[in-house]
Amino acid sequence: MLECKTEMEGHNMQIAVLSGKGGTGKTTVSTNLAKAMGWQYVDCDVEEPNGFIFLNPKITKTEKASIPVPKIDPIKCVGCQKCVKICQFNALAWVNRDVLFFDKLCHGCGACSLVCRYNAISEVDREIGNIDVGNDGEIACLRGTLDIGEPMAVPIIRNLKKMIGNENTIIDCSPGSSCTVVASIEGVDYALLVTEPTAFGLHDLKIAIELVRNMNIPFGIIINRASDEKDLIEEYCEKEKINVLEKIKFDKDIAVLYSKGRMLVEHDKYKDLFLNIGKRIEEEVSCNLL
Ligand code: SF4
Ligand code: SF4
Repeated sequence: MLECKTEMEGHNMQIAVLSGKGGTGKTTVSTNLAKAMGWQYVDCDVEEPNGFIFLNPKITKTEKASIPVPKIDPIKCVGCQKCVKICQFNALAWVNRDVLFFDKLCHGCGACSLVCRYNAISEVDREIGNIDVGNDGEIACLRGTLDIGEPMAVPIIRNLKKMIGNENTIIDCSPGSSCTVVASIEGVDYALLVTEPTAFGLHDLKIAIELVRNMNIPFGIIINRASDEKDLIEEYCEKEKINVLEKIKFDKDIAVLYSKGRMLVEHDKYKDLFLNIGKRIEEEVSCNLL
């Protein structure tokens, strides 16, 4: 393994932390791993970003996130309806001899303005959320927040990922395996799948595994709220030859720290646990680079 590590020089890793379902402890793992390893933390769970609650960084910059949407000039429009036909998202409709635009359905793809031969469509920015940049004194922190009622999470995630600094980074994804997760994990070096030893946990873990396998992303598993007994997730991983990086067991200390909004790495035994996870990921990524 140590031979692999020489390959890491000059390579900054991006590690995505995801979970098939909500409530598995994904954000707890993401924030504590980032903190233990001194890695940048990026919250891509833009519909419910709560990593900053634990990291509590000082926010140094806030930017608006927006998507380009069409603005139709009724004077120039001749009613050819080409824009309506090209829109794959039903954001444009031909009603009463007029083009109607439904902004919440628009993905900002730009196809309508491209097909309009009459120069009747210009693009304007529509704000969909914010991106916060901060620092907790030790690690850089970024967060995307989608405005309430906004359905378009993917553009803000893409904007957020463009702002990732040139350093090792933890990307905290939204739960599930939807297009927001796909956008968050595109191009990462490694995926860390956080699950819990329940039938629901295993069901949703299998879907997340299928996703990362389809995207050719190396991955490992963390079983949270585990017991000393061998559980159904371990049995499944053993059968499928999947790497379980760590079992985080039920512990009163975790409940106490969590209820106070404190980081687990404030406790030495958990700092060591997350350092161990980070080092194992570094080894796996370095070997994958060979
Ligand atoms: S493509 Fe242009 S001209 Fe044709 S309906 Fe749309 S806006 Fe009007
Ligand atoms: S930008 Fe794309 S999604 Fe939006 S209205 Fe035009 S074609 Fe439809």
